[in-house]
Amino acid sequence: MLKRVLVANRGEIAARILRACREMNIETVAVFSEADRDSFFTSLATRSICIGPAAAKDSYLNQNAILSAALYTHCDSIHPGYGFLSENAEFAERVAQAGITFIGPSAHAIATMGDKSTAIKLMRTSGVPVVPGSNGLVATAEEAKAIAEEIGYPVLLKATSGGGGRGIRKISSPEEMEQAFVSSQAEALACFGQNGVYLEKLLLKPRHVEVQILADSHGSYVHLGTRDCSIQRNHQKLLEEAPAVFLSNEEQDRLAADALKAARAVDYTNAGTVEFIVDEDNSHYFIEMNTRIQVEHPVTEKITGINIIREQIRIASGYPLSFSQDEVVFRGHAIECRINAEDPMNGFKPCPGAIELLHLPSGFGVRVDTAIHPQYEVTPYYDSMIAKIIVSGRNRHEAIYRMRRALEETFISGIKTTIPLHYMLLMYSPDFISNQIDVSFLDSKLSDLLQPLDEGIEL
Ligand code: ADP
Ligand code: ADP
Ligand code: MG
Repeated sequence: MLKRVLVANRGEIAARILRACREMNIETVAVFSEADRDSFFTSLATRSICIGPAAAKDSYLNQNAILSAALYTHCDSIHPGYGFLSENAEFAERVAQAGITFIGPSAHAIATMGDKSTAIKLMRTSGVPVVPGSNGLVATAEEAKAIAEEIGYPVLLKATSGGGGRGIRKISSPEEMEQAFVSSQAEALACFGQNGVYLEKLLLKPRHVEVQILADSHGSYVHLGTRDCSIQRNHQKLLEEAPAVFLSNEEQDRLAADALKAARAVDYTNAGTVEFIVDEDNSHYFIEMNTRIQVEHPVTEKITGINIIREQIRIASGYPLSFSQDEVVFRGHAIECRINAEDPMNGFKPCPGAIELLHLPSGFGVRVDTAIHPQYEVTPYYDSMIAKIIVSGRNRHEAIYRMRRALEETFISGIKTTIPLHYMLLMYSPDFISNQIDVSFLDSKLSDLLQPLDEGIEL
């Protein structure tokens, strides 16, 4: 078993990983930037070490600093969490070359799946359904127009190294292509250091359904069922559920089978998520694979009882999976709300600042993953997600009532958060409550949901 893990991340996911290690009796090293010197997550580690200034490029993205820290503290492994270096194939390779175990898939799997247009090509040849679109990168707006003409408008331009919804542009007619092409490429370059873009047909009102998979180094593959992540703002997930109950069990099994097919196509090991969009007739199409732990993994843990971080560490240690597919039992329904330090009444503008008073929910069926506390300073340097509230119930209905109750108990003063939006959605949206949603639902209903708050109703 691995003996000392360096956690190359911050905030709630660093806390999540450090806690798992502690329960497994594994020593840990937390790394932190100057802005996170006093952060709670660092105190969960056996020891912690500063790796540089606040800016991510100088700390959490600084490969040399992280590798030096790992070697200096004699770590035998690195867990990258999500974001930052988690899907950087070069980093995974450098970690391996330094004789350290990367807790994640091979650099090859990261490189293949991380380049989304390459991954789609591979899926096409592996028999996994994909959205109609370009076969690989599109070099010019002219080429994009020609392909769009064939598959029919509207289409999406996407960054091949994209993530977090960035670089995505919707194009409804040939006249819009030129400008969208330039701006998609520019955003891709700014966010990911690479301007490659590809084209996909825009499906109207699809749902986002993904499958959590685990694969060990002995050739065993299992799936942990589906998650529905259709509640999104600007292509970014805000609320996730498990399982995707709008699909029949048979339909969910078909998605899971294709997810495993996708994973096998790259000889995948460790935890990963295969993302699909599901059309109005419930047919599914691969959109990408995230080769890392995902933000929303706790909803799956809630319904399966499987500790995914623990499994990641066991797999990286060379152990076989501790259970077979038949032993995975699904129980009830789980919902996660992402609490972001953003002002929903002000275009979701990030709201850095000091948290004054804080009360987090607890009780039957409630889990909170966070690294915040009273007087915690939300800095402007990193992602605005500060906490995740996760609940489960015997069914979706009970989970909704439990989440309402959990949100009612939550109190955060000093900064604005996305809590009021979640509450309005869970309380007052008949479409959400009856599960009649799709990926564009929230964007189209946002002003209706926020209107009572605009009128001065305090939550
Ligand atoms: P998930 O499917 O896990 O919800 P997201 O796309 O929401 O994935 O990304 C998870 C986190 O990682 C977010 O905080 C996001 O800002 C960050 N992230 C995603 N992709 C990248 C990337 N390529 N580079 C840097 N950060 C990223
Ligand atoms: P990212 O890498 O930024 O996560 P994805 O390819 O996963 O990008 O797409 C992000 C979101 O955009 C999806 O969850 C879905 O809501 C929407 N989306 C992606 N592809 C399509 C499509 N072809 N048609 C309609 N919506 C799409
Ligand atoms: Mg995605």
